[in-house]
Amino acid sequence: MKYVSTRGAAGVTAAEALVYGLAADGGLYVPESMPQQVPDWATMCDLTYPELAAEVLRLFFPEWSQERCLEICRRAYTGTFCAQGIVRVREVGAQRYFTELYYGRTLAFKDLALSVFPHLLQAAKEDLGMTGTTLILTATSGDTGKAALEGFRDVPGTEILVFYPEHGVSSMQRAQMRTQPGDNVHVCGIEGNFDDAQSFLKDVFESPELRAYAAAQGVHFSSANSINIGRLLPQIVYYIRTYTELLKHGDLARGETFHAAVPTGNFGNILAGYFAKRLGVPIGRLVCASNANHVLADFFATGTYDRRREFAATLSPSMDILISSNFERFLYYVLGEDAAKTAEYMRRLKEDSVFTLCEEERAGITDFLGGWQDDAATLTTMREMYGRYGYLPDPHTAVAIGVVRELQEAAKLPEGPVVIMATANPYKFPDALAEALELPRKDNPYEMMWEVANTTNLPIPTSFLQMEHEPVRFDEVVAKEDMERVVRRCIDGVKEKRNG
Ligand SMILES: *Cc1c(COP(=O)(O)O)cnc(C)c1O
Repeated sequence: MKYVSTRGAAGVTAAEALVYGLAADGGLYVPESMPQQVPDWATMCDLTYPELAAEVLRLFFPEWSQERCLEICRRAYTGTFCAQGIVRVREVGAQRYFTELYYGRTLAFKDLALSVFPHLLQAAKEDLGMTGTTLILTATSGDTGKAALEGFRDVPGTEILVFYPEHGVSSMQRAQMRTQPGDNVHVCGIEGNFDDAQSFLKDVFESPELRAYAAAQGVHFSSANSINIGRLLPQIVYYIRTYTELLKHGDLARGETFHAAVPTGNFGNILAGYFAKRLGVPIGRLVCASNANHVLADFFATGTYDRRREFAATLSPSMDILISSNFERFLYYVLGEDAAKTAEYMRRLKEDSVFTLCEEERAGITDFLGGWQDDAATLTTMREMYGRYGYLPDPHTAVAIGVVRELQEAAKLPEGPVVIMATANPYKFPDALAEALELPRKDNPYEMMWEVANTTNLPIPTSFLQMEHEPVRFDEVVAKEDMERVVRRCIDGVKEKRNG
């Protein structure tokens, strides 16, 4: 199967798409056509998670054998998750379910894809006979960075460099990255927000000078951001698992649909839901939930994507994004896989910061509903969920809960079961928990966690208990303009390592 750019560049193999990350014309890779012969997912209730994941990979990498896909998925999901089924589907309230996606090493849903992705990349490099070093460049709004660091830590032939917004992540997210072990990992804070980091990295990928500089040292760039097809595809799996779990426990009859609500930032998670729907999972509406950075909610309401607004730092930092990179893939499908039109809209977005779909094109977005919640509403939802059900969601998940409730109250969401994607362990955000539970504020996030634990009896993840005693390995913070210098330093480091 070939992969083509959303902006029209010629097709490449799956292995090339995995290794390049971004297409040469700045577009994102998508499969040339959606797989046609898809399995009947309903019969897959008894497959293990790695077995199910292998089925999905096979659809998108038909050149790879069944055994190879299974081997990759087994390695990815063995010993890396603390829930037996990898994800858990739980009913909380009538016809409302949570698919809990945070049982991986770094306690956020990013682990689902970033446990597989390094293996996919290794396989792709093997196929292409690539030898040199891969430098994984990653911008993070908080959770991708840590999950990518864990996924790529000490993987041979690989270095990883993560940029995070120094003032735009939670205390625990920051501590997770700054204490990261491994001999091939690099972490750097920036004075700027996530959009700055992400757009800089796009420039690096497109910079012939920097690529040439790297190539001269035997280094090529790749990305662990959700622009990479290797991030997107593994995320389809848990939408299918959600479906099989609902069937298995009699919560859904065959042929019945469910709605899926997703706390959204870069549009990677919800896009995987859209793919799952296209592959036959009976998803009714996809609910795109935003925080105060509600560019996407506005888009679904009006058909206008307008990023001309102030960036807001919120209690749900992993959704603090105004330029959702995966949105381009969605747009491509909405426009009937028309790359020229997609390129034109992306050009308008870059030059004018705004574009509007015409009436006819808007017909393609009716599967989606958008909504948003500010911090005050988010805290109220957390407090109510805990008070009423003893279920304490993290602030991102709480945004989605609030959006679903509003859409239901306004009768915009048709009847039927709703599944909310629960994207992080609440302890990643101790300050928000304390505020929601009205506990006294403490400067030390570990003390804050204990306050929460003593009040709620919710166990603190062991990795967080250990982290308090681990040394900070990375404390560098640079201006945006200096990010290129940090990348060059990393490249030089590879050369020294090889010589040393
Ligand atoms: C990354 C993240 C999101 C947003 O997911 P996207 O795929 O970027 O839309 C939501 N919640 C949490 C906890 C995250 O880490």
